[in-house]
Formats: sequence, structure tokens, C-alpha cells
Amino acid sequence: MDNCIFCRIASGEAQARILFADDEVVAFHDLHPQAPVHVLIVPRRHVASLAHATPDDAPLLGRLCLAAAEAARRTGIAESGFRVVVNSGAGAGQSVFHVHLHVLGGRPVGWPPG
Ligand code: 5GP
Ligand code: ZN
Repeated sequence: MDNCIFCRIASGEAQARILFADDEVVAFHDLHPQAPVHVLIVPRRHVASLAHATPDDAPLLGRLCLAAAEAARRTGIAESGFRVVVNSGAGAGQSVFHVHLHVLGGRPVGWPPG
């Protein structure tokens, strides 16, 4: 989607601090980090939100989860602990409607979340 910022980052049209990427997934640092480590994991293919995912997307969603763990390892927070968040829908705080995982860590992360 031309007007989707995460599609544009995934295609290289828009800039981001890329952590790693493969054929299906791109990991990059959030522009407004909410923790010392705040990485976003996005699929290259546009899926608007988790609520829009279908059974056909199951392998892709698995790749996103594995990429979140890889991002945690690469940023040094795998051992200390990290939080993976998916906001789905405006009521849950989703502001970019291209599905993404937030990987947060590098500080104590409280529970329950806000
Ligand atoms: P959401 O609110 O949809 O769950 O998360 C969207 C995230 O994308 C926010 O944390 C926001 O800071 C981040 N974000 C929005 N636009 C950009 C951008 O252009 N570049 C990067 N790196 N992050 C962005
Ligand atoms: Zn998109």
C-alpha cells in the first residue's frame, strides 16, 4: 500500500533504523521509543491488523514471533526479559494499520499493562 508508512519502510522508500530483515520480515527501531530497547517487527506484506489476519497468515505470524525473539537477542535483552505487544484496533492504541509487534525491554516492564 503506497500510503502505508510500514510498507514504505519495508520497501526501502522510507528511512528507518533497520535492525535486520529477511524475505518476509523487517525489524527496525521505533521512532518514539517507550523503553531503552523498542523494536518493531513488521511483515513485508500488508496486513492491516491482527484482527485482519486469516489462517493463511499463520506461517507469517510465526515468522513475526521468531523475529521478535531474534530482535531481543540482537539487542541484548533476551536474558533480562522483554515484552512483545500487538495493539489491534484504535481502542487498543493501534495507530499504524499495518500489523506489527513491539519488542520492549532494557528496563523493568510492569504488569498489568496500562
Ligand atoms: P501502534 O500505536 O500502531 O501500536 O504502534 C505504532 C508505532 O510506530 C509507534 O510506537 C510509533 O512510534 C511508531 N512509528 C510511527 N511512525 C513511524 C516511523 O515513521 N518510523 C518508525 N521507526 N516508527 C514509527
Ligand atoms: Zn502496509
